[in-house]
Amino acid sequence: MDQTNESVKPSRRAFLKKFGMTLGAVGVVGALGVLNSCSTKEAGKKFRFINAKGEWEEVDVSNMKLHLTELQKRGREGIHNKKFVKVIDLSKCKNAQICMSACQKAHHLRPEQPIMNVLRMENSNGTGFYFMPKPCQHCDNPPCTKVCPVDATFKREDGIVLIDNERCIGCRFCIAACPYSARVFNWSDVDPRYAEEEKDLIYNIELNVPQKKGTISKCIFSADRVRIGKLPYCVSACPNGVYWFGDFNEDVVTNGTSKESTRLSTLLEEKGAYTLIPELGTKPRVYYLPPVDRLSKYDYNGINYLGEKEADQSEE
Ligand code: SF4
Ligand code: SF4
Repeated sequence: MDQTNESVKPSRRAFLKKFGMTLGAVGVVGALGVLNSCSTKEAGKKFRFINAKGEWEEVDVSNMKLHLTELQKRGREGIHNKKFVKVIDLSKCKNAQICMSACQKAHHLRPEQPIMNVLRMENSNGTGFYFMPKPCQHCDNPPCTKVCPVDATFKREDGIVLIDNERCIGCRFCIAACPYSARVFNWSDVDPRYAEEEKDLIYNIELNVPQKKGTISKCIFSADRVRIGKLPYCVSACPNGVYWFGDFNEDVVTNGTSKESTRLSTLLEEKGAYTLIPELGTKPRVYYLPPVDRLSKYDYNGINYLGEKEADQSEE
């Protein structure tokens, strides 16, 4: 595989600007723990943070270079003329969590680090609950990418926000900046279950495998699958018709269960779609359809609110 080197020399002003944005973003989300673990020693050139071993680490940002394999170069470019979107129908989710397991398996994640969460939601006391899958929102105006001091995380022209874990230094600024808690940190070495499979693997930025200790993981809209014209792992795996995925430019989305395609704009308008915390101005590319006709009899792991085991959750 060809290796290409490309110098990246962020200016002092650019670094200060990014660091200033970090402080702002951290303030918004109140993630003071991470801020306390990061400090500039010599602004614009070096800064210190606590790494995955719990030790202080110093990085000279101005001397860092991008070492890009072909996979990484392609991963940074994305797919031309596309703008990927996901639609999640909350009225359909039965907490089967099959989307979560498909995602975990594909991205070689440990059970304790889901990058797709299914949350149990209740708008107020005494109202019916519903389940809300929450991946990265692939914001059009993502605060996470703006605070990364080494350009390890970025937004591509097709709207997918990716992470290059060969470049990530593990400072966790992006975790603090994300208002949707969409990022997780790899505290551990590679999961032993995948060690044999991964031993000769070249890092694929569009799959984010192998996972690497001291770096970041999050939902990446299955960038490796969309490159070959397939639906994301979670979208294909869901048996309950929860997920639609497609292209904003073409105004078409496809349901992962029924494989039916429809106009995105019509679906969003007719079903009253919304995005999460729109007032932040992050402009998410994940849309939610409201949880009408709630499936309140379902609870975690098929146990209903009466404590009874429910039948197959994949049943329509
Ligand atoms: S949800 Fe968080 S991690 Fe994903 S793009 Fe938005 S700010 Fe970044
Ligand atoms: S943890 Fe990695 S991706 Fe996140 S801000 Fe730091 S270097 Fe960038």
